Amino acid sequence: MVVLNMVRDNNEPGGFLLPKHVSPPTIGVLDLQGGVLEHLDHLQRLGINGTRVKEPPDFTNLAGLIIPGGESTCLSRLLYLYGIAETIIREFRRGMKIWGTCAGAILLARSVVGESPYLSLIDIEIERNSFGSQLESFTSEAVILQVSSQPVPLTFIRAPKITKSGKGVEIILRIDDYIAAAESPDVLVTVFHPELTGCVAFHRYFARKCGLEPLDDTKVPAVDPTWDNKSWTRFERKNK
Ligand code: GLN
Repeated sequence: MVVLNMVRDNNEPGGFLLPKHVSPPTIGVLDLQGGVLEHLDHLQRLGINGTRVKEPPDFTNLAGLIIPGGESTCLSRLLYLYGIAETIIREFRRGMKIWGTCAGAILLARSVVGESPYLSLIDIEIERNSFGSQLESFTSEAVILQVSSQPVPLTFIRAPKITKSGKGVEIILRIDDYIAAAESPDVLVTVFHPELTGCVAFHRYFARKCGLEPLDDTKVPAVDPTWDNKSWTRFERKNK
């Protein structure tokens, strides 16, 4: 008889048993630069196991990866410095889903206006800094039925615009002359930042895309009223 060494999975409300060597399904947040902790905060609100990822072994067996907003030139240099561009592409081919917010969406685009593309994993064209300088950053809101029946807040920070989408890409949100959110079966891109608001609807949507079971909106509403703009600081590293 084989006796497995079991541990309780506290992410599961009823608790279920996993062999000790099997970790619960996890979404990694690329921890190079930008809004890493804000995404971890949102995943935790939904009962999803989230972790920072940076070195090649960190990417093994992730259900999904979030590439946060920040600065895409800086992120791309760090990607190559840490030698993880190939690792991300390899794990993507093995089934890891990816969501890019803002600069993350730029890294995932197949075409970047006026520049060479980076990871090239979704057939969109994107234009960086398309609204102008940082001073042209703004907030708005929209109803996006795929993610929630409630209006959700949208925060654009020196955002790009998705200017074209190709075959196999579904447009989730179009505003005026540009696309603000889109997806293929394996990649989600948003040019705005749900993680900088109380909106957990996109994180729930992405977790489901990864095959996970986040807490539903009877437990955590689309816009979590317990969130504030300092919530993420609980993840700050203690020894700086
Ligand atoms: N302007 C940044 C870039 O081009 C993206 C800004 C963001 O991620 N909020 O990389």
